[in-house]
Amino acid sequence: MQELTHFIDGAHVKGTSGRFTNVMNPATGEVIAKVPLATVDELNHAVERAAEAQVKWGATNPQRRARVMMKFGALINEHMDELAELVSKEHGKTLPDGRGDVQRGLEVVEVCMGAPHMLKGEYMNDGGPGIDLYSMRQPLGVVAGITPFNFPAMIPLWKMAPALAAGNAMILKPSERCPSTSLRLAELIKEAGLPDGVLQVVNGDKEVVDAILDNETVQAVGFVGSTPIAQYIYGRAATNGKRAQCFGGAKNHMIIMPDADMDKAADALVGAGFGAAGERCMAISVAVPVGEKTADTLIEKLIPRIEKLKVGPYTSEDEVDYGPVITAAAKERIEGLISSGVEQGATLVKDGRGFSLQGYEEGFYVGPTLFDNVTADMDIYKEEVFGPVLSQVRAETYEEALKLTMDNQYGNGTSIFTADGDTARDFANRVNVGMVGINFPIPVPLSYFTFGGWKKSAFGDLNQYGPDAFRFYTKTKTVTARWFSGIKEGGEFNFKAMD
Ligand code: NAD
Repeated sequence: MQELTHFIDGAHVKGTSGRFTNVMNPATGEVIAKVPLATVDELNHAVERAAEAQVKWGATNPQRRARVMMKFGALINEHMDELAELVSKEHGKTLPDGRGDVQRGLEVVEVCMGAPHMLKGEYMNDGGPGIDLYSMRQPLGVVAGITPFNFPAMIPLWKMAPALAAGNAMILKPSERCPSTSLRLAELIKEAGLPDGVLQVVNGDKEVVDAILDNETVQAVGFVGSTPIAQYIYGRAATNGKRAQCFGGAKNHMIIMPDADMDKAADALVGAGFGAAGERCMAISVAVPVGEKTADTLIEKLIPRIEKLKVGPYTSEDEVDYGPVITAAAKERIEGLISSGVEQGATLVKDGRGFSLQGYEEGFYVGPTLFDNVTADMDIYKEEVFGPVLSQVRAETYEEALKLTMDNQYGNGTSIFTADGDTARDFANRVNVGMVGINFPIPVPLSYFTFGGWKKSAFGDLNQYGPDAFRFYTKTKTVTARWFSGIKEGGEFNFKAMD
């Protein structure tokens, strides 16, 4: 079995802890590798070396750092298929979706090619008599990125590209379920010219995360994962005086108004609900049709679409819509939540429990599941399912649908399908959710905007990527400068006292 490594000082380094965890191929249920779980000492060593490497990297002019990003972007493009396969093999998503994962990360690298522009400060001439003020953005030093399993390429790239382009060194702790893509990206960015030690990939679990949070040299932590862990990391990082932005889970609602194009809404819901087996933080897991007729029509339109969905491994010759969920435990949890929905009185329209795929009986597949008549007090509504399960909650009015969305503890993404611009505007203005789609199901902003949820979907200030990332990964220093007059009046040739 393949033994994975850490990537320290520009080289693959074996783990020394003796602790490992299995990396699985969820499509087959096979163990494909074991990944080392770092110790506190291994982490502290990686941070120390990163701090040494950061001094020169931070003093390298931003345009030269941007050139590393340019080459890195070119290498990612060159290795697109290879990276997508690494993603799919450990995550289970289809190959086209794996490519999308790499692509949305690459787009952040592309924005970081313009890092010099992002790093410019402000200047005020004659802010006072003979006084000029200017500000500069300086790197923080060593920062950390801690990432989830569900986007093995995109989210590590969201973390590393802005942090490195801003002149920091980064400790990247990828998900122990999908570590190989981060290790490959570390090789590629080294090939692009990143000096050794500036990006250290340290694999591990809670032990290494806690070591990052307690290490005094680490100045900032960018985290993405589930809400309880996001909240924990935010608290511990802040207690230790670190900057932290911690992005958590989601329960994204789509409101379908009676005037919406119902075929388009149903198509959008199937893609956004079941794509990547529902394992996206921007997946739509709750459909909220307004009015009984809208709800009945939507269910009618969803059923045949769901029946056509093809579930299978990323290696399938036939076109597959989505793959397995990440682990056997995830499958069990999702099926348990489906059962709870039935017990608590929701109408199970399509049941994905007990799904088995011929030839892949050990894979972690869950069939597409559709619930109707879900209410806000049911676990299937309250919990983030993170699986191929779509719940329909019926609302009588637009206000009721809006209130449901706003009362939910999460606020990552939401969407409205309507033909009425006034309703769409009202929704976008009033809803307390960070990313809003109008006739658009998964409103992940493009890389020159920023990404971030509200409420329990994010802890800390500033969003991911775009201009906010450069604010997060730099400190502002403001200089007030005065040059006394007189020098330009001419040289002083007599030797005299300094009075
Ligand atoms: P997770 O919280 O289990 O793990 C995320 C990271 O935290 C991993 O690197 C993991 O090793 C580490 N970790 C896990 N348990 C820990 C603990 N007790 N102490 C310290 N560190 C710990 O999340 P996941 O299952 O890998 O990812 C899925 C979750 O991520 C979902 O909730 C999803 O909504 C969320 N997510 C959010 C966003 C966003 O931007 N808001 C994006 C993608 C995924």
